Amino acid sequence: MLLRRGCFSVKSAYDALLREIVPGPLLSPRKSKIFSSIWDSPAPSKVIAFSWQLLHDRVPTKDNLLLRGVIHDNSEGKCVWCDVSPESSRHLFLHCKVAHEVWYEIFKWLGVVIVMPSNFLHLFECFGEVASTKKLRKGFRLVWHSVLWAIWRARNNKVFNNMEMKPIDIIEEVKVTSWKWSLERLKISPCLFYEWVWEPGICINS
Ligand SMILES: [Zn+2]
Repeated sequence: MLLRRGCFSVKSAYDALLREIVPGPLLSPRKSKIFSSIWDSPAPSKVIAFSWQLLHDRVPTKDNLLLRGVIHDNSEGKCVWCDVSPESSRHLFLHCKVAHEVWYEIFKWLGVVIVMPSNFLHLFECFGEVASTKKLRKGFRLVWHSVLWAIWRARNNKVFNNMEMKPIDIIEEVKVTSWKWSLERLKISPCLFYEWVWEPGICINS
């Protein structure tokens, strides 16, 4: 996203998306606060923009493509992984067995106890609530962004390249991307990848 003077800004991406998204009912103060804190993240802006669109259910999942007449046959609308449930954003990113396993392992990796809520917004809140410091909260929420991004990439690899990624591959990708983004953008003290994998909380707080 470019400003008139050609400079990139996350704020400009946020404003552009706001203009593009059809305004829904007025958000409660709680939801508005959460929505704006989604942008307060060291994740790359394209990743944040993706999470934002996901929260508004504007991602081209198969149920959305069916709704918009891009695909016509209900049988084409099944989840790529379980081939049972319709591919909705909630199913694909939260409740499918693949997504479930990914989140479960990520919670374990971060050392947090979270009962999987029914929506992304609440999950984002949970990631903030289980963090004991401001920096940790930012780091955990960075992981929240990277999980959504990694699940979408894995889904697209399966749909477009017939490339199967198992939950363990998605989890590995989350660990790698969140490590890189934390070093580059969260400005944590330099740590090696194995240290990040071993104790992400200590790396973020150091
Ligand atoms: Zn599924």
